[in-house]
Amino acid sequence: MADSNFVLSDILRNNIRNITPYSTARDEFQGVALVNLDANENSFGSVGNGNYNRYPDPYQHELKQVVSKIKGMPVDQMFLGGSGSDEGIGLLYTAFCEPGVDNAIVCPPTYGMYGVSAEINDVACKEVPLTEDFQLQADKVIAAMDDHTKLTWICSPNNPSGNSYDRESIRKVIVAAKGIVVIDEAYIDFSTEKSWLYELEKYPNLVVLQTFSKAWGLANCRLGMMFASKEIIAVINKIKLPYNMNGMMQKYACEILSKYASQKDDYVEEILAEREKLIPELEKIPAVQKIYPSDANFLLVKITNAHEVYKSLVQQGIIVRDRTKVFLCQDCLRITVGTAKENKMLIEKLKEICK
Ligand SMILES: *Cc1c(COP(=O)(O)O)cnc(C)c1O
Repeated sequence: MADSNFVLSDILRNNIRNITPYSTARDEFQGVALVNLDANENSFGSVGNGNYNRYPDPYQHELKQVVSKIKGMPVDQMFLGGSGSDEGIGLLYTAFCEPGVDNAIVCPPTYGMYGVSAEINDVACKEVPLTEDFQLQADKVIAAMDDHTKLTWICSPNNPSGNSYDRESIRKVIVAAKGIVVIDEAYIDFSTEKSWLYELEKYPNLVVLQTFSKAWGLANCRLGMMFASKEIIAVINKIKLPYNMNGMMQKYACEILSKYASQKDDYVEEILAEREKLIPELEKIPAVQKIYPSDANFLLVKITNAHEVYKSLVQQGIIVRDRTKVFLCQDCLRITVGTAKENKMLIEKLKEICK
């Protein structure tokens, strides 16, 4: 291991270190029984005649096997969220940050949930801005760390800028951190960069978040993934809600992910092709000042009078994300790459509005 000084129990919250987790009926008896009278379920059935009267597997064993095959990661280094990767973000604060005492580092402009979740947990957030071209300032991030810095959030490819951070800068931060460094890879499937997943072995303080919401097209399902050392995952499993993913979703996800995993690559290919078509079309519009380099399924576009353009687009039924008030994103709209037809409509309306 690159950092042998890292001792997980040293950075856990005191109350979490020795916690006795809730023990579900499913924890106490696993397997098939003749009669199940241990969980106060309705033994007669479920309303609507569905098959939903029994509590689901609290650890999603079957689904994890499927995800393990897809990701090439062992089951004991994986946590699955039934409320997306946002669930993982909240659990990391619960595990590591003493409210009112510990702090986290975020690098704006970036994904909003790191800060919102910090506030919910009464954890101070130190902001170390990205450079003008949206790169990580590794030395400044490291300088901002103190003994109470338990979490450092790195989003790469970053939302809303769309770019990936320089790999060596990220590595520098991971190696220097005494706390946990979280790399949010929500957009990794669209990226030319390699995932950090396969470097977890080297860095005991690294956590990688991924999601089925973007490239996989399963935002509605709220399926999130967290990968880390098996020690960190064991802690997360102790503090998660007992049945954090419903049985319908476990069954559905097992089915589609074992049968149709290759469709994800087709979607990625299509989306990237559309992104590359969209860029020159946007460049033809004189009001467009800059299109930032994207390693994701969206483009950050600097455009004259962006807020007015946004409002006009809304009036025409086309909704993009107004980022004009976001730090370093003045006059910027964040535009998700749509289907060919959607992108064409967007371009037509933009031409009308900006003429
Ligand atoms: C969309 C997004 C997520 C949300 O993922 P869910 O799994 O849907 O909760 C996480 N991180 C970033 C940076 C995102 O843009």
